[in-house]
Amino acid sequence: MKRLFLCLLILFSALSLLSCSASAQTNESFAMDTVIRQTVYAPDDTVIKQNNQILRALEDATSKTIETSDIARLNAANDQDVELSAETARILELCLEEAQRTDGAFHPALGTIMSAWGFGTENTRVPDKRELEQLLLHTDYTNITVNGTQANAGGTQIDLGGAVKGYALGKIAENLEQNNVSAAIISLGGSIYAKGTKPDGSKFKVGIRDPFGSENDYMGTISLDGSFVSTSGIYSRGFEQDGAYYHHLIDPKTGMPVENNLESVTVVSPAGILSDIYSTALFVMGPEQGLKFAQQNGIDALYLTRDKQILATDGFAQKYEFAIKNQEYQE
Ligand code: AMP
Ligand code: MG
Repeated sequence: MKRLFLCLLILFSALSLLSCSASAQTNESFAMDTVIRQTVYAPDDTVIKQNNQILRALEDATSKTIETSDIARLNAANDQDVELSAETARILELCLEEAQRTDGAFHPALGTIMSAWGFGTENTRVPDKRELEQLLLHTDYTNITVNGTQANAGGTQIDLGGAVKGYALGKIAENLEQNNVSAAIISLGGSIYAKGTKPDGSKFKVGIRDPFGSENDYMGTISLDGSFVSTSGIYSRGFEQDGAYYHHLIDPKTGMPVENNLESVTVVSPAGILSDIYSTALFVMGPEQGLKFAQQNGIDALYLTRDKQILATDGFAQKYEFAIKNQEYQE
């Protein structure tokens, strides 16, 4: 009995020591063309460093512009088989599955088109119709094959820019779990993951960007605990030419920026890669078809239109405690 008491005492002391020693560790870094902000409640910055390593490794494996990456090698091989890491093969497989499910709205083979526009580079330009027609001939994602770790780009140029950040956040969430981190919030460009509560016991609130404002302006907030949110918006990567604005969310049928009345789409999901993929796909589908697809597939989504209308799937507001901060937006 005495021994049991002693054991329990040691256990409780160890646990209280553990929880006391966890404090907010913060970090800002840059990878995957985006700023990464981490707040992790932990005794030291070990987990943050591991997370940064995870991001760098994934970028090295999937970036189209790093010549040695799996994806760049696959693209360079044109229609020859290439050996990939098991992880890249899995990511590619998931992207192909979702391309099929979304009937190509999420389209992982728009590499030639993205390069022609040059979004995110200094060499942005508006390709003409004929050039786009030629490039579109090399975008049939159904030609891409993955067999185990052998893959073939089937003559396309693969671009996983609409999915990899979400996947990376999923992997970071796993790392937090493995390290018994009970509270953290990580943002990676337009994708955010939060788990647990702040020291005062409240949930993490995440801002939904006001597309008409600057980077720090929010039109509303949602509460997150253990899920992932991604927003695809026309403001994040685009340029103006001759009075027209061109953005990076591409209509796979035309190779042109999607033309609809949308500013952004936000998706909350229990899986990082899916929040990222579906925010892109639902934007491409547009509000009518996209909301229908989301309802049918149990996806939680919120659309913001150019005339500041808010359109959301059933129950979105209640589930994530959606609160409007900018009253110009109407539900
Ligand atoms: P996101 O900001 O997650 O919506 O991703 C946008 C990025 O995904 C772009 O910069 C492109 O690299 C890629 N992309 C653009 N259009 C599409 C599309 N229709 N399907 C899949 N990826 C796309
Ligand atoms: Mg995306």
